Amino acid sequence: MSTSTESNSGIAASVSGVVDERPGYFGEFGGAYAPEVLMGALGEVEAVYNRLKDDAQFQKELRQLSGEYAGRPSHLTFAPRLTEAWGGAEIWLKREDLNHTGSHKINNALGQALLTVAMGKKRIIAETGAGQHGVASATVAARFGLECTVYMGEEDVRRQKLNVFRMELLGAKVVPVTSGTGTLKDATNEAMRDWSKNVDTTHYIIGSAIGPHPFPTIVRDFQAVIGHEAREQMLERTGALPDAVVACVGGGSNAIGIFHGFLNDESVKIYGSEAGGRGDDLGDNGASVTFGQVGFFHGTKSLYIQHGNGQIENVHSVSAGLDYPGIGPEHAHLAVSGRVDYRRVRDDAALEAFQEISRLEGIIPALESSHSFVLAKQLAKELGRGARVLVCLSGRGDKDVVEVAQLLGREGF
Ligand SMILES: *Cc1c(COP(=O)(O)O)cnc(C)c1O
Repeated sequence: MSTSTESNSGIAASVSGVVDERPGYFGEFGGAYAPEVLMGALGEVEAVYNRLKDDAQFQKELRQLSGEYAGRPSHLTFAPRLTEAWGGAEIWLKREDLNHTGSHKINNALGQALLTVAMGKKRIIAETGAGQHGVASATVAARFGLECTVYMGEEDVRRQKLNVFRMELLGAKVVPVTSGTGTLKDATNEAMRDWSKNVDTTHYIIGSAIGPHPFPTIVRDFQAVIGHEAREQMLERTGALPDAVVACVGGGSNAIGIFHGFLNDESVKIYGSEAGGRGDDLGDNGASVTFGQVGFFHGTKSLYIQHGNGQIENVHSVSAGLDYPGIGPEHAHLAVSGRVDYRRVRDDAALEAFQEISRLEGIIPALESSHSFVLAKQLAKELGRGARVLVCLSGRGDKDVVEVAQLLGREGF
């Protein structure tokens, strides 16, 4: 392999190109394909959200909490040593790693906790991969006095022990999920099962821009603060828009959040890095744009990695947060329309970037975010000096340090 990122070879042949005009659709993707028992709850969430999203009091409360509790606005940081070492475009970082609980996940968790309270519900549930969304959910549950159960695949429970204990300290119950590969998709299945049994008392805080309508829209709106802040900060600091914006894509929430600041800016090229894993064979990666086909899963129509017969395939990534067999429907649309270029980044390249960013900038990035740096490095060279690349640093890497030490064969871990 001569380059460290690989362009997708062409979008799935299964795309129809027919635009669906109903609410909750992005081009032909999206919608709410959920069991009967959930349709009422989804309708309730949509109605409450539609009422509150333009409500000045709600927005004020969210802004205040985002500030005094979560630390927004997050900083924009110039990365001088990466810029110099890579010898090309300037590298700028949007620092979601500095948020309370260490990633962008708190933006959505706070917003949805306020929705939960507005609906009069007393219990939240969540799925989690790396544990970051579980920690963010457990955190807001503690802050608002809500009961909280987090579903987590047993493989992820093993990889992210520290986050499991963190959630328990915060008063949440963590349920290990043993079905399937014991990763994010299985945890999401269990959370949906719980929700369908307890819709009257419980709100399900989905952690990414996935799932049935209205979730992809709600999560996107709560994460769009990343892009709106970053756009203003870039203009203020550099007097111009960035030439390129890069974010890693698991389900796609940090990416859709930063992308939304720039989608209408034609001069800004937008890139998503997806999990290239160990290689291109089925089961070895989580590159849902490159290898996905149109399908229906977890309540929405999008691109999913599946066998010929439509069965969702097990996927792999070194980072738990990218270990998901699909992407949110809005990303599927942005991929098909060509507005965003999604490229896959392999495990070993991400591991190298994890160490390089730590050494050169004094910032240990999450393994997920490390995927975006691999792509940023390539773009810095492609675009050259004078250009600017904005990277969404979705989270800090403290949670990954033990896993990386083991992968690097360090003794004592
Ligand atoms: C969860 C997570 C991701 C992946 O989720 P998205 O919904 O695709 O953003 C990326 N980075 C970090 C730090 C995460 O915690």
